[in-house]
Amino acid sequence: MNAPFWQEPAERYPGSLPDRADVLVIGGGIAGTSLAHHLSNRRISAVLVEREHLASGASGRNAGFLLAGVADCYAEAVRIFGREKAREVWHITDENHDRMLEAVERDDVGHRRLGSATLASGDEERARLEESAQLLRDDGFESHWDGTRLLNPRDGEVNPAAVVGALARRAKQGVIREGVEVTSIQSRGDEVSVRAGELECRAGLVVLATNAYTPQLLPQVKIQPTRAQMLASAPVSRSVSDIPTYSHFGYRYWRQLPGGEVLIGGWRDTAMEAEITYEAEPTDNIQEHLDSKLAEMTTSGQVTHRWAGIMGFTESGLPLVGPVEGMRNVYLCAGFNGHGMGFAFMSARQLVDTI
Ligand SMILES: Cc1cc2nc3c(=O)[nH]c(=O)nc-3n(C[C@H](O)[C@H](O)[C@H](O)COP(=O)(O)OP(=O)(O)OC[C@H]3O[C@@H](n4cnc5c(N)ncnc54)[C@H](O)[C@@H]3O)c2cc1C
Repeated sequence: MNAPFWQEPAERYPGSLPDRADVLVIGGGIAGTSLAHHLSNRRISAVLVEREHLASGASGRNAGFLLAGVADCYAEAVRIFGREKAREVWHITDENHDRMLEAVERDDVGHRRLGSATLASGDEERARLEESAQLLRDDGFESHWDGTRLLNPRDGEVNPAAVVGALARRAKQGVIREGVEVTSIQSRGDEVSVRAGELECRAGLVVLATNAYTPQLLPQVKIQPTRAQMLASAPVSRSVSDIPTYSHFGYRYWRQLPGGEVLIGGWRDTAMEAEITYEAEPTDNIQEHLDSKLAEMTTSGQVTHRWAGIMGFTESGLPLVGPVEGMRNVYLCAGFNGHGMGFAFMSARQLVDTI
């Protein structure tokens, strides 16, 4: 019962830390496997190391929503980042959807593009969502307010672990190595020394795709580990949710899979302090809220899975994609603020183009 709904990728990639690599990617989630994908077209030796198995972090534990934008609605994003930046972020995440799906097109990753809905929790959110619908349309995005919900027809949903597995399957043999836990990283002149216990790799360049876990290796990086919890039900025969739905300023979300299973997540806003943690375990109080929502939606839904994952939040609300200050040849592709499925593929491409 205490396990993610999504099955981990079937393939195993046992390996060890290489002695040398042009580029060493640390972390085997959606960011790491996207980096491996973009690096595969370059004439360099790239290796990805993952301490557990692929998609063992947040990438195998999320809701699988593919949403344009950040957690805040468009009107709020415009206030925080300015109109131009907000528009750019929505464009990048919209493109992320297309490009990521193109990259895995031969695999069944449970993709559907029926759109998403955002419900207002009250008058304040309703006003922001109505304003968002107008601003989005003015900026050329498909979006509308139907009287109760903000609808974004270009959003979609996937099986997130299947996407990671599909990207990994395209990597050359030996590129991905599971069961390698990096213990330290040091810049040394033109090289970066990476250690996994006794073993050392001298890499030309290192990218941390370790999201929430980044400060465990580099404490100076400001990414806050933040837990999110979910449950899944046994198949429910009637339709209880037509499209992935978000509410309460993004703190609550649910979707129903084509097989009838209902996935419900969130309610972190009821225990903000307690959810700042690296403990990827569900808790009774949040799970009770998820149970209540399931009962409201289905009356008789049986819970089959309960789980938690750790997201990485940044101060700006945007991902950290670029060099680590003061560490030559060490880069970040991390801090996805609970929206890595919508951001990471394009963030990885942007970083690979830069380096
Ligand atoms: C419950 C929940 C629901 C969510 N819902 C959505 C959603 O619907 N849509 C969406 O876009 N996003 C969602 N998110 C957020 C999304 O899951 C993350 O933003 C995304 O998965 C981050 O991907 P990542 O590859 O950066 O990190 P991760 O998937 O966490 O991968 C980091 C990897 O690094 C590895 N690692 C860490 N330290 C080391 C080390 N020292 N050595 C080697 N390997 C190491 C870890 O084992 C891990 O596998 C949700 C998250 C949660 C928890």
